[in-house]
Amino acid sequence: MEPKIQISKPVIGKAEINAVVKILESGNLSQGPVVKELERQFAEYCGAKYAIALSNGTATLHTALYALGIEEGDEVITTPFTFVATANSIMMQRAKPVFVDIEPDTFNIDPALIEKKITKKTKAIMPVDLFGHPYDVKAVNKIAKDHGLFTVEDAAQSIGAEYKGKRTGTLADIASFSLYATKNLTAGVGGMLVTNNKKVMEKCKLFRHHGQKEDTMYEYIEFGYNYRMMDMIAAIAIEQMKKAEKLTKQRQDNAARYDKALAGIPGLILPNVKPGYKHVYHQYTLRITEEFPMSRDKFVAYMEKHNVQCKIYYPKPLHMFPHIQEYGYKPGDFPVSEQMSREVVSIPVHPLVTKEGIRRIIKLIKAIK
Ligand SMILES: *Cc1c(COP(=O)(O)O)cnc(C)c1O
Repeated sequence: MEPKIQISKPVIGKAEINAVVKILESGNLSQGPVVKELERQFAEYCGAKYAIALSNGTATLHTALYALGIEEGDEVITTPFTFVATANSIMMQRAKPVFVDIEPDTFNIDPALIEKKITKKTKAIMPVDLFGHPYDVKAVNKIAKDHGLFTVEDAAQSIGAEYKGKRTGTLADIASFSLYATKNLTAGVGGMLVTNNKKVMEKCKLFRHHGQKEDTMYEYIEFGYNYRMMDMIAAIAIEQMKKAEKLTKQRQDNAARYDKALAGIPGLILPNVKPGYKHVYHQYTLRITEEFPMSRDKFVAYMEKHNVQCKIYYPKPLHMFPHIQEYGYKPGDFPVSEQMSREVVSIPVHPLVTKEGIRRIIKLIKAIK
C-alpha cells in the first residue's frame, strides 16, 4: 500500500520546536513580548496598521463584532456555507446571523443577494474567504458603504491571499485569521485580528483581557473575556511567518498541477480564481456533478481505500443545524449552499503533498470510468 496522504498536515520543523523550548525555558508562559512581536510582524505582513493576537479564530470573530459595537438585536449578514464558528461568533454577541446564499464558482457570499436581506437592524456584513479565495471585495464593500455597514472579513482560511495586490486583512474594516492546526499558517491554536482602525484595535485589546487597561494591573475599564494568546503560541507563529510565502507557493504549485491534469473531465468542476484575485488554496475543492461516473460519496470512499484522505467541507450548511434553525431557517432556504454541500470534495493540496503524491492522486481520479 502506498503511504497515506492526509487532507492536512502542519509544516513543523526544528525552528518551531526550538522556539517553544526557548519560551518554556524562559519561564514566561503568559502573553508577553513575543505576542507583541508577532502582532507587529503580522500587521506588516498584511500591510495593515494593527494586528491583535487572541486565543483562537473564533475569539477573534467574537471580539471583532464586540469592538464594532454589535449587540443584542442586531443583525449580521454572512453565508451558511462556512465553518460553524462564523455564525456562532455572531450569536455570542446575541446578534442574529442573517444568511445570504453563495456563488457556486467561489463558494463565497453572493453580493447580488445581499441587499434584499438588509434591514434597519443590519450592522455588518461578514464575508468568508472560503478555501482561500477572497470574497467579492468590490461588490460587498460597495453595498456596505452604501448602507453604512461594517465589513468583518472571516479570513481564517486566506492568509496571504490578495485582491488587486492587497492582502486579506486590509480588504474589510477588520479581518479575522485563525492559526488552528489545519490552517495554512499554524501554531496549533490561535487567532489574529487585523485592522487599520486605532479605536477598534484598542477595543479588541480590552476585550481580550477582561477589559483591563493596557499596561495597568487590575484596572478594568469595561467588561471583557480572557482571550489572550500565550508567548509560546506566538513563538511558533513567528517561525511559520518566516516561511509564509514558501508555504503559499507550494499550495499554488500543487493546485496548478491539479488544474492542468484534471481539466476537461466531464462532471468534475475545478476551483475557479476570479481575475484580480490570488487564491491561497487552503483547500483544493472539487465539485462532483451528475455527469461524473462516480457519486461524490463513493469518490471519497474510493480515495480513502487508496490511502488518500479527502474531506467534505462542509457536509451541511449552517441553516441545517438545530441551534441555528431557532432563527427560523429551514431546508431549501439556501439552494446553492445545499447543492454545494452535496457536490464538494476537497483533495490534499497542502505543502507536504509531494509531486509523487500529486501524480498518484491525479492517476486515481483519471482512472475513474
Ligand atoms: C478555522 C476557522 C475559524 C476559526 O477557527 P478556530 O478553530 O476557532 O481558530 C473561523 N472561520 C472559518 C471559516 C474557519 O475555517
